Amino acid sequence: MIRGVLADTASLLVISLVAVGGYVAVLWVATAYFVWRDARRRSSSIAFQLLALLLGFIPPFLGPLIYLVIRPPRTLDEERAFVLEEQSLLDIDDDPIASRPCPSCGKEIEIEFIVCPYCRTQFARRCSACDRVLRLGWAVCPYCSEEVGHAPLGRVTRTG
Ligand SMILES: [Zn+2]
Ligand SMILES: [Zn+2]
Repeated sequence: MIRGVLADTASLLVISLVAVGGYVAVLWVATAYFVWRDARRRSSSIAFQLLALLLGFIPPFLGPLIYLVIRPPRTLDEERAFVLEEQSLLDIDDDPIASRPCPSCGKEIEIEFIVCPYCRTQFARRCSACDRVLRLGWAVCPYCSEEVGHAPLGRVTRTG
């Protein structure tokens, strides 16, 4: 009777050991697979993928952690998006719209602007008659000879 209970306990122990062992093994292979798949997304180099696969298995569970530290920061897709983004930024720099730094705050603004949208500094105004851009110091419009008077140089204040 007691012998039977002992045998049951022993086999129960074996079963749980096998279960735990199997669980750990599955987890081990799964982490290695995760590392390998992640490496393929981040690098097209076969050598790097093999190294990642090796790290995924050895040392167990610690290898994947090491991999997380050394892996490329961006996936290939992210890298592609990043390059495209940089390219589009460069394209903007080549844009035909002329720009210049704001004389007051230094931010890049379009050359046609008469007021800096960032710091509200006004450096030109429009002729009330022909709507062309005038320097602040001009008292008369050189395009249509409209008398525009002197406007005080300074910041634009919100009106109405
Ligand atoms: Zn400004
Ligand atoms: Zn004018």
